[in-house]
Amino acid sequence: MSEEAKKLFGTNGFRGVVGRELTPEIAIKFGMAVGTYFKEGRIAVGMDGRTSSDMLRSALVAGLQRVGIKVYDLGLVPTPVLQKYVREHGYLSGGVIVTASHNPPEYNGFKVVGENGVELADEEERKIETIFMNESFNYTEWFGFKETTVISDAISFYARELLKHIDLDLIKRNKIRIVADFGHGVSSLSVPDLLIKADCEIISINSDINGRFPNRPPEPTPENLRNLSKAVRAYDADLGVAYDGDGDRAIFCDEKGMIWWGDVSGTIIARYLAEKEGINKTVTGINSSLIVEKVLNPRGVKVIRTKVGSRNITKVMIERGVIWGFEENGGGIYGPHQYVRDGGITTMLMLQVISYYKMPLSKLCENIPRMFQVKTKVHIEDFKKRSIIMNKLVRLYEGESFYKIEKLDGIKVWINKINWVLIRPSGTEPIIRIFSEAETEFKAKKLAEDAKKRINEVMSESK
Ligand code: MG
Repeated sequence: MSEEAKKLFGTNGFRGVVGRELTPEIAIKFGMAVGTYFKEGRIAVGMDGRTSSDMLRSALVAGLQRVGIKVYDLGLVPTPVLQKYVREHGYLSGGVIVTASHNPPEYNGFKVVGENGVELADEEERKIETIFMNESFNYTEWFGFKETTVISDAISFYARELLKHIDLDLIKRNKIRIVADFGHGVSSLSVPDLLIKADCEIISINSDINGRFPNRPPEPTPENLRNLSKAVRAYDADLGVAYDGDGDRAIFCDEKGMIWWGDVSGTIIARYLAEKEGINKTVTGINSSLIVEKVLNPRGVKVIRTKVGSRNITKVMIERGVIWGFEENGGGIYGPHQYVRDGGITTMLMLQVISYYKMPLSKLCENIPRMFQVKTKVHIEDFKKRSIIMNKLVRLYEGESFYKIEKLDGIKVWINKINWVLIRPSGTEPIIRIFSEAETEFKAKKLAEDAKKRINEVMSESK
């Protein structure tokens, strides 16, 4: 099936603006499609705290029941809590979480996971899409409907299971004071308990679940985390952490108020695991900083790069037996716990690292070379033209002599050994994304601007 025909799912499940691409009517149909795919199995359902989540959850459940699915309702839960619950309960065939993660408040969506708690692969999602488009639903009769069972202990189950992988005594000895910015998302339901069990002193901000996200947008970007920085300094805390709307991403702030992006924190955790557990491989996306290799290669850790998207990282980790992988946006994946992004385990691992070295995060980041990244995008008029544009762009870059060109995901052009620009089309929106990295902000901006210019040139030629 071509990319254009892949209508429902993007890189991270099915997302859309509520009332436009995503209505309760569509949610019922989606439920029937997912239920037909799982063939009368048992499915866990959960949701984030968005204003539309409860409505969409009800519709989704109705759709699932219409095709004979037995629903286990976990209620309000972070995505990794639902994933862990599905993974550890053999009677469940899969799960669906109603969430739009870090997207603006008007969005919502569905993420479908299989029996191992991992997001379905592309081929599986396409099967659901085909059922949805053809409306080939496996309707059941009155005698086949099954009542929902409410599960109320998913979060405590998660905490218990997660902490089996953490050295609590080590963290307890350090009496860490931490500011946690929940960003009005659902991680405020699961993370405090983990921190309390580690004897941390917790100062929480934006901990009320609120689908309007009044004090900060659900995406934990440095611009959105200024209050976290301030709070860490004001309370003289040892560490700060911020989550996205559904709690699978964690971004850290050092004790001086500096926000560190996910490729740095992921690298710090990998370096610790290399020293302590002897790991010799880690996995990250092609858009992560070069500092990952710079820090880890000299320590004997091979860095495997994948296409952008956590599912690609998960896939390689499982295939090659890698226990730690991460994304630049703060998604950390610890395989022994579960092969999906999890803000809770990432937080606890970071606390363990700080406790092990008895060093604050700023000190742990001290020897990491400073690199600057710029992220921007170009809008394209016609979504269908993006492959034509990308092909022309590849030819344009290949016609010149650059240090290196990689074509794993879009095109990554290395100007020299340390400066690069990555250009890749979005899977869901009519945009082409640009990432660049250099040793100065000025250089990184220039690289991104140059890429933008080239894309615009190619676009005007393609009209
Ligand atoms: Mg998320």
